[in-house]
Amino acid sequence: MKKHNFSAGPSILSEYAIKNTADAVLNFAGTGLSLMEVSHRGKEFMAVNTEANKLIKDILQIPEDFEVLFLGGGASMQFCMAPYNFMEKKAAFLDTGTWANKAIKEAKLFGEAVVVASSKADNYTYIPKDFEVPADADYFYYCTNNTIYGTEIHKDLSFGDMPVIADMSSDIFSRPIDFTHYDLIFAGAQKNLAPAGVTVVIVRKSALGRVSRAIPTMLDYRTHVDKDSMFNTPPVLPIYTALQTAKWYQSLGGVEAIYKLNKEKAALLYDEIDNNRMFKGTVTCKEDRSIMNVCFVMAEGYEALEADFAQFATERGMVGFKGHRSVGGFRASIYNAMPIESVQALVDTMKEFAAKK
Ligand SMILES: *Cc1c(COP(=O)(O)O)cnc(C)c1O
Repeated sequence: MKKHNFSAGPSILSEYAIKNTADAVLNFAGTGLSLMEVSHRGKEFMAVNTEANKLIKDILQIPEDFEVLFLGGGASMQFCMAPYNFMEKKAAFLDTGTWANKAIKEAKLFGEAVVVASSKADNYTYIPKDFEVPADADYFYYCTNNTIYGTEIHKDLSFGDMPVIADMSSDIFSRPIDFTHYDLIFAGAQKNLAPAGVTVVIVRKSALGRVSRAIPTMLDYRTHVDKDSMFNTPPVLPIYTALQTAKWYQSLGGVEAIYKLNKEKAALLYDEIDNNRMFKGTVTCKEDRSIMNVCFVMAEGYEALEADFAQFATERGMVGFKGHRSVGGFRASIYNAMPIESVQALVDTMKEFAAKK
């Protein structure tokens, strides 16, 4: 039976990226050796590193002043690297859930972390709006897509000249980005790019070196900018897959085309959630609904059918659609690599389930 992979992360990758990675694991670039056993400084892998870097810059139309880095430590490492490198005294945070809070916790080690707004009292079912950012903050920080709660900020926020830092782990490459106000964007690879193990960091070079503290070598972005992410052994295999995914994105027509497809996929599923009497969405403000992670529960009166639906969908090939424990119900992650046919399969399953009961 065909499986439809709705996992939140690690998550679905394109067949193109998986197949090409598998081939390179067996025989990399005609070397007769595995991608996993050759030097990261050999000419074959250096070419991969350079091409992946260039292609990501092309696809996201990243301005000249930025560098793209491939780092280890996951997105979670960036929660401390960002304030280490950018926070002198104070930074402003938008509290939209678990991932934002992890960043706030680390920032407090370096100075004052001001929470400008929070939707915590409503279990993060919407994105706070109309808040003020203190003018003396070193930067404003937010998480663009809240993987757990299924909320998303669909535009690039800005506050005058204030530098902005964003965690885009679960929606990078899902839409075009306006880099004007960003100093730093980061994303763990395991949602829209590659297997876990590499984090894509897009950093404004001219904004580095402004904090007065000493920074450990490995946690200093300048180390990795200076060495093209080759200061130490980079996560070779995930970078290879990242290159394959980037090539696949380019073949789809880039982020504009991907954005259009993503909106179609999300609309298909949200329409079903809104129109099927058995289900309801958890995000209360429709404009805040994520086009990457679609969270829903059984509607009033049908709560007892949750386990039944889970089994019904599993029998039809749906995988990884259980909601995060802090939200419950279901979460269908429909990242870039998810074909619309799989979204349609889930919609058909929901229709079939409702018709049967
Ligand atoms: C998954 C995720 C993370 C954590 O990524 P790791 O690579 O596991 O550290 C951080 N932020 C967001 C928005 C995520 O979705």
